[in-house]
Amino acid sequence: MAARVQHTLYQVSTATALVEGIYQGAVQVAALRKHGDLGLGTFEGLDGEMVVVDGHFFQVRSDGSVREVQDNVLSPFAAVTAFSPDQSITPDNCPDLSYLTAQFDALRQSDNFFFALRVDGTFDYIHARAMRRTKEGVPLVQAAAVQPEFEFNNISGTLVGFWTPEYAKSLNVPGYHLHFISADRTRGGHLLQCRGKNLHLQIQREGDYHIVLPETEDFVKANLRRDPTAALAEAEGEKK
Ligand code: ZN
Repeated sequence: MAARVQHTLYQVSTATALVEGIYQGAVQVAALRKHGDLGLGTFEGLDGEMVVVDGHFFQVRSDGSVREVQDNVLSPFAAVTAFSPDQSITPDNCPDLSYLTAQFDALRQSDNFFFALRVDGTFDYIHARAMRRTKEGVPLVQAAAVQPEFEFNNISGTLVGFWTPEYAKSLNVPGYHLHFISADRTRGGHLLQCRGKNLHLQIQREGDYHIVLPETEDFVKANLRRDPTAALAEAEGEKK
């Protein structure tokens, strides 16, 4: 068998640390840039959503504004990869997010790897949110309870993100985690729901997982023993 190219998922901090309110800046965008051109995360002080597409790093703030960030901006949590997809499909119609993720399920072939994901096209509907700047130590669930949400109709753009195995749930958000950025780079956020026709789905298996642990004072002292599963489901999904 020919050697398979090992794609690397490069991550800073852990899902548990984010759940516990560890929002101090740990790494500069310049460092993330060296390890990937596609990904997601957040910024120091939980100041909005990070969307990384084609090597450009964008910040979607809670007021809905989007800006491309410079190298010196800090992030407490991010995941990036050099994206070069293994497979792609273009289903006729994705009536909702669970249908879209089921298409990725069919391509994954394993529950035991991380996968990087990208979706391009014109979406009939996007429901997204952007975290509001939050004080250090305020749990993620509390921060997410007051998150501004946005709805966009008939909008061209890109979803980027990852699928994380269940066994890695204390390290990254288990299952699917996607962020949106519009084609004109003026709107975006953490994806809650979507719908669209002829969307182009691309997927890459990650065989190498590189995690960098923050040396910030709060991370050093944090209690990261708690199981973050319930808090992540509540903070990252659509409100019931
Ligand atoms: Zn997110």
